[in-house]
Amino acid sequence: MQTMSPATIIEQQKKCYQKGLTHDLAFRLKQLTILKQAIRKHQDDIMQAVHEDMGKPPFEALTSEIVATLTQLDLMIKHLPVWIKPVSYKMPIGHWPGSCYVLPEPYGTVLIMAPWNYPFQLAMVPLIGAMAAGNCAVVKPSEISANTSRIIARMIADHFDPEYISVAEGGVEVGRELLEQRWDFIFFTGSPRVGKIVMNAASRHLTPLILELGGKSPCIVDKDINIKVAVRRIVQGKFFNAGQTCLAPDFGLVHKEIKEEFITLMDEALHQMYGDFMQPSRDMARIVNSHHFNRLVGLIDPSKVVIGGAYDAFSLYIAPTVIDGVKWDDAIMQEEIFGPLLPIIEYDSLDEALEKIRKFGKPLSLYFFSNNKKLQERVIHETRSGSVCINDSIIHFIISRLPFGGVGASGMGQYHGRASFEAFSHKKSVLKKSLWYDVGVRFAPYTLSNRQAEWLYKLFSG
Ligand code: NAD
Repeated sequence: MQTMSPATIIEQQKKCYQKGLTHDLAFRLKQLTILKQAIRKHQDDIMQAVHEDMGKPPFEALTSEIVATLTQLDLMIKHLPVWIKPVSYKMPIGHWPGSCYVLPEPYGTVLIMAPWNYPFQLAMVPLIGAMAAGNCAVVKPSEISANTSRIIARMIADHFDPEYISVAEGGVEVGRELLEQRWDFIFFTGSPRVGKIVMNAASRHLTPLILELGGKSPCIVDKDINIKVAVRRIVQGKFFNAGQTCLAPDFGLVHKEIKEEFITLMDEALHQMYGDFMQPSRDMARIVNSHHFNRLVGLIDPSKVVIGGAYDAFSLYIAPTVIDGVKWDDAIMQEEIFGPLLPIIEYDSLDEALEKIRKFGKPLSLYFFSNNKKLQERVIHETRSGSVCINDSIIHFIISRLPFGGVGASGMGQYHGRASFEAFSHKKSVLKKSLWYDVGVRFAPYTLSNRQAEWLYKLFSG
C-alpha cells in the first residue's frame, strides 16, 4: 500500500511533528473523531476481512475488533482534555516563588507493530494512544492477516495525511526495514522471539519501547468452586478466536478431587456452545494458516485426548481439544499453545501448583477459580504475572480503564484507557522559578555546619 520507503515516511513525519500541529488538543480530538467515523464507515469491511483471515465469528469480530477499539476511542475522546493537563507537584519552600509540574509531551514519530490474531484491534488501540498523546505514527499490520492489513491501509490512507499517520504493509522484510529507522518510540505486540529482535533494534538508538508479548498463562481450578460457571467461563476464554488469544488460559491446573467432573462438564459446555457437530459451527474461528495448523496438530498426543482431537487441514479447523494426563515435560507444555488445545494437569495442594507455575516465569495473565477468599489473596500475592483474573478468563482485558500489559518475558509497559495516553507520552518534569531572590548560603564558599546544610537541603527538596 505505502509506496514510500520507511526512511522517506519517517523523514516526512518528523517534519510534520516539528510543525507542532499534533501538539494541539483540538487537533488531537478532531483526528480521533475522524478515526472513529472511519471505523464506523468501514465496520462491515473490517469484519469481513477478519473473517476471511481466520474465520472469526461475527460476534467475536464485532466485539473484539470493532467495539473494543471504539470503546477505547470514546474513552480517550472523553477524558483527553483532562489527561493532557500538566500535573502540579508541591513546591518546596526554597524555590518560592515558582511552580513544578509534570508535562505529558509526545515522543514524536512512533512505530506500531501489530500481530495477526486480533489484527484490527491490536493495530488500532495503540494508534489511539499514539494520536491522543500527539505523535505521528506508522502502523505495521501483520502480513499473516493480509485482508485486515489491506483494509487498515486503505482506511488510514483515505482519512489521514501520511505525514501524520501512515501504514507500512508487508512481511518480515518490511518489519526489518522499519526497525532500522530511528524512531522516537516503538510499540510492539507479538511473540517473545520477535520482541527480542525489536528490543535489540531499539537499543541501537536507545529508543524507548513497549513490548506486548505472550507466553503460557496458567489457569488454576480449585475444588471450592461453582464448577458449572467456572467451566463455561474457561471454555469461552480458551476457545474464543479458536484459542488464538495472547492471554487465553494456556493450560489447566485442576484440583484432583474435581478433575473428572471438570472434564465431563467441559464436554457438556462445549456441545452446548458449539453444537454436537462442531466443525461447521460459525461460532468457532479457524486456525490462521497451515503453518500454525501443522504446529498445533503436532502438539496433539491422541493417546491423551479426552475431548475433541478432530481436525481438518482443508478448512484449517481444529476441534476444541482437551488433553488429560499431561506431564510438565510434554511437548505441549514447552511453548505457548495459541490454539484450541487445553492440556490438563491435576494438582493436590495449592503450594505444589504455585511452585510449578513459578517455573514458567511471568506469564501475561494468571487465572484462579475458587470461592476461597484466602486462597484468592494467596494467588494474587504469591505469583508474578502481567495480570491476575479471579473466577473468569480473558474478560479483564476488555475493562476499558484497566491497564493491560505483561511483565518480564510476557512484556513491558501497559496500555488501555489512560495508560494508552501515558504509554505514548514522555512525562517531562518542569521547574519554573523567578530570579528575584536567592538563598546565598547554597553557593560556595560553603559556610554552613552539617546540621544547617541538612536543613538547607530539605528547604529545596521538600
Ligand atoms: P510475531 O512476533 O511473529 O509478529 C508480530 C509483528 O512483527 C508482525 O507485524 C510481523 O510482521 C513482525 N515481524 C515478524 N518477524 C519479524 C522480524 N524478524 N523483524 C521485524 N518484524 C518482524 O507475532 P504473531 O505471530 O503475529 O502474533 C502471535 C504472538 O503475539 C503470540 O506470542 C501472542 O501471545 C503475542 N500477542 C501478544 C499480545 C499482547 O497484548 N501481549 C496480543 C496478541 C498477540
